[in-house]
Amino acid sequence: MEFKTINPHNGETIGVYKGLTDDELAEKLDNSQKAFESWSKVALSERCTLLKKAGQVLREHVEEYAKMISLEMGKLISEARNEVKKCASVCDYYAEHAESFLADEIIKSDASKSFVSHQPLGAVFAVMPWNFPFWQVMRYAAPTLTSGNVGLLKHSSSVIGCAQLIEDVFKKAGYPKNVFQNLIVSHDATEQIVSHHAVKAITLTGSEKAGSSVAALAGKHIKKSLLELGGSNAFIVWEDADIDKTVEIALTARMMNCGQSCIAAKRFILLEGVYDEFVEKFTAAVKNLKSGNPMNEETTLGPMARKDLADELQKQITNSIEQGAQLIYGGNQEGCHHEATVLGDVKPGMAAFDEESFGPLAAMIKADSIEHAFELSERSKFGLGVTVCTENVELALSHVDKVSDGAYFINELVKSDPRLPFGGTKISGYGRELSKDGIMEFVNRKTVYVK
Ligand code: NAP
Repeated sequence: MEFKTINPHNGETIGVYKGLTDDELAEKLDNSQKAFESWSKVALSERCTLLKKAGQVLREHVEEYAKMISLEMGKLISEARNEVKKCASVCDYYAEHAESFLADEIIKSDASKSFVSHQPLGAVFAVMPWNFPFWQVMRYAAPTLTSGNVGLLKHSSSVIGCAQLIEDVFKKAGYPKNVFQNLIVSHDATEQIVSHHAVKAITLTGSEKAGSSVAALAGKHIKKSLLELGGSNAFIVWEDADIDKTVEIALTARMMNCGQSCIAAKRFILLEGVYDEFVEKFTAAVKNLKSGNPMNEETTLGPMARKDLADELQKQITNSIEQGAQLIYGGNQEGCHHEATVLGDVKPGMAAFDEESFGPLAAMIKADSIEHAFELSERSKFGLGVTVCTENVELALSHVDKVSDGAYFINELVKSDPRLPFGGTKISGYGRELSKDGIMEFVNRKTVYVK
């Protein structure tokens, strides 16, 4: 089997990769088990030193890696550089904190001594998406390898060049052979991988469909799974918010990565008193976006990653308009390039409200009170995060329990930070990445008891 990666901006082929045969895959899986047996015995301090080196390798190759990201999935080159730098920061973070996170946890009980000890599990299999092709992988790999597990990656078939470069980061940093392996396979090979005895856990970032299918296989083979799936974050604006500042945050929250982010603000829930002003200023900011080649420094809106994704967004826009939404700006598509689009009067029951819009589409929704805004925010099957913009931070803090999502941000777009746990509720998935929580997901928390 052969895989081709395509530049979404101009349709040119970037790379052609030969897929693994079943036998080659089986050999890699066996090698993973062997690698685990020695890697898990390497001192934690040595594993932290190697991770620090991986961070250095990322920093030394920012331009090369950013270029591959931009070519394969259309990310603006400046955003791609930031992605690579953020990967280096997650390496630094776990290199610095892994020893304290993994230390024995003394717990008083009726024993003379009792504590929790942390041991690695084995190979952790990652199924990853194309939208942050370096970051999604590194945020799992940094803690997971450092706790003594080995990694197996099945990346999205559209970013195999990035997957190869990530495998190379670990080689260049001096990791022992096969501690991190990229598997060039189609997703039909998932069961062969999940069922292999070396694989002890699975982490997937991607769509609800892929998550459900891979988690079902994990359940069948009784392996732990972690899912980071889609989102339709509400961005709530109260009447006392500073609208100019809020619009600036809102634009990044929606249009970064051409709108292709799970935690992007997708539903703008605006209190009646600020609806007109916010929509007018937000639309003016959207009109200023300059679409074009993502490798060009002046471009501020690149192409979407694939044409079928742009087609899907177009369908959601058309359906929403048929369902009564007002087209305020944009709406046009040319291949992978989709115009940034603003829809007004969006309501529950419309595609732009009910579905995840994975592209540059902002849905404006009117709420008649703060309570109503939270009710609308909760009317979603997704649960990644919510933003509230207001000058009254104390009042916003008193509403933390109104939000059932995994994150609640005040006056800031929902974003990930190595120091803070990240993950969703409802069909956005389960489990937590990053922070201490992230490293705890794939270790055996073993109870030790001394009479
Ligand atoms: P996707 O189509 O679900 O693909 C994600 C990964 O799953 C790819 O490696 C894909 O491989 C694989 N896959 C797809 N179907 C599969 C199946 N039936 N069995 C096994 N593997 C399967 O998602 P995407 O289009 O790449 O990414 C967009 C989605 O990811 C959005 O819904 C977005 O919100 C979500 N996302 C979530 C987070 C988060 O942290 N919560 C972060 C980023 C993205 P192939 O490419 O070979 O099909």
